[in-house]
Amino acid sequence: MSRTVYINGAFVPEEEAQVSIFDRGFLFADAVYEVTAVLDGKLLEFDGHMARLARSLGELEMECPLTRGELLEVHRELVERNGVEQGGVYLQVTRGAADRDFVFPKNAPQTMVMFTQARPLTGEKKGLKVISTPDIRWGRRDIKTVQLLAASMSKMAAKKQGKDDAWLVEDGFVTEGSSNNTYIVKDNKLVTRHLSNSILPGITRAAVLKLVAELDMEIEERPFTVEEVKQADEAFMTAATSFVCPVVEMDGTAISDGVPGPIAKRLNEIYIEEARKSAI
Ligand code: PMP
Repeated sequence: MSRTVYINGAFVPEEEAQVSIFDRGFLFADAVYEVTAVLDGKLLEFDGHMARLARSLGELEMECPLTRGELLEVHRELVERNGVEQGGVYLQVTRGAADRDFVFPKNAPQTMVMFTQARPLTGEKKGLKVISTPDIRWGRRDIKTVQLLAASMSKMAAKKQGKDDAWLVEDGFVTEGSSNNTYIVKDNKLVTRHLSNSILPGITRAAVLKLVAELDMEIEERPFTVEEVKQADEAFMTAATSFVCPVVEMDGTAISDGVPGPIAKRLNEIYIEEARKSAI
């Protein structure tokens, strides 16, 4: 069945949505995006995602074509029209179509598209097996741009080895996962890389760190090595539509006893419980 998608003010069947070949999102990856999770037909962490969207746009000297209220309305309309109970809403804003030039165009009408992806988000999580691979991405990973080829290549490297995902390494330290933030637990202390231009400030990361602080568990925001991952009591990753997902193997070495750990499991439960409370 064809989805209804949103493009520049219109709700249309997905086959009818068209973007110019001159769109700078297509030619330059000159575009930013967000993915907001949907649970029980409601949006999780909506304001966090829209705040990050505004920041990404601001860093690239772009405007947001819609207000917060309009963005919420379109998200809700898409979820309803497509009958999504669990999944996500993808949103992308580009600088628009203009004759190809490295200079930003003046007054090009921006392109905004949104679509839903339905998939189950709850249920028992199997532990992920990950590989480490060099982080070959650009230097502004704090901006959520659509230039995702390096991330896609790292994921493919993992898949080719029969694994689930890749954790990216720069100067000997893990930055983040191909599309998620990364954590280890050692001696009941949670370690995750501090925010900087090197990683995306995950909306799920912020929520989970708040919950961890409430649990009275110690948090260390600092870079960690692949060796530390292998020696950890637990490892896990977070992302909007994965919540808290345990990681059980790094580069062929089992983490602890190689099964999902209790802290990741508990954090996932609490995260879902809390996110449901503030879902809109
Ligand atoms: N880092 C990267 C590189 C990502 O692509 C994502 C998810 N898009 C995240 C972290 C997690 O961010 P969030 O929790 O906001 O989904």
